[in-house]
Amino acid sequence: MPANVVVRDLRKCYGRLEAVRQVSFAVEPGAIFGLLGPNGAGKTTTIECLVGLREPDSGAIEIGGLDARRQPRAVRQIIGVALQATALQDAITPREALRLFGAFYRRRVDPGTLLDRFALAEKADRPFRTLSGGQRQRLALALACVNRPALLVLDEPTAGLDPQARRDLHAEIRRMKREGCTVLISTHYLEEAEQLCDHLAIIDRGRIVATGAPRDLISQSSALQSVTLVADRPFDSARLAQMAGVTGLCCEEKVARFRTENATRLLPGLSAWLDEQGVVLVELQVRKASLEDVFLALTHAAEGPNPPSP
Ligand code: ATP
Repeated sequence: MPANVVVRDLRKCYGRLEAVRQVSFAVEPGAIFGLLGPNGAGKTTTIECLVGLREPDSGAIEIGGLDARRQPRAVRQIIGVALQATALQDAITPREALRLFGAFYRRRVDPGTLLDRFALAEKADRPFRTLSGGQRQRLALALACVNRPALLVLDEPTAGLDPQARRDLHAEIRRMKREGCTVLISTHYLEEAEQLCDHLAIIDRGRIVATGAPRDLISQSSALQSVTLVADRPFDSARLAQMAGVTGLCCEEKVARFRTENATRLLPGLSAWLDEQGVVLVELQVRKASLEDVFLALTHAAEGPNPPSP
């Protein structure tokens, strides 16, 4: 049975740095839930607290009805975890690793089944050091599935994979969901968040800044339509900047990019204004807000990683 997750007011500091600040979110049983945030946002710290690898400073974590901070051993039996980099002994083979990990659990899946399922049969008896990056990631996922978990926790499982390998891993994650598993995944890939996740929490500098289904986040956000126009000659960009409804104008000679709430209302006036100056519109593009716009509007992704707390 898939497990639910409830996190309340989670806080974790590293010295003066408050890496996770009163983080709260809930994951429905059977959902794929994404923790989306830029580098240094606090995703890994949150996940490590959740799976019992770090002691939070405060806050409550409930997994499948268990208090994860008080009953970590019981929680470990029902979760599967793949962290960012899976370090295994160089000489261990995938079959041996699956057997070894399985031995920790009361409920376990046969290594042969997992090797077939994660396309590792060919490499089953080869040393870990000879596996490619993609094969290592698949092995990490296979190891996380060894106890048929009710909750699968994956920290940036597709980092560094090529697009095909990423798609293959997504297919496996969806299959886990169909088979009755809840999935909590951290990522900074927007496409992954939008395509794979039923629900998202956007985290930035240790705080949750938005939660919701990807489509709802886009439609509810104040992210505006993006307009790009190309003219046949340079025009008066200062006047364009003053035009009602134009925000975030960025001009480069004959090209202008800006955001607006309602392009349908703005464009007739803009077009008439260009015409008055004898400027011909060569190209015009209106794009609805995307998850990337929402992400950039809500986070400090463009500014780089988390600075120390004041
Ligand atoms: P990334 O996407 O880059 O993996 P993240 O969202 O997973 O980032 P965390 O790894 O949780 O973020 O880091 C959050 C903040 O805590 C960062 O500023 C990071 O430098 C800091 N941090 C993480 N681990 C430690 C640690 N062991 N000691 C001190 N600071 C740490």
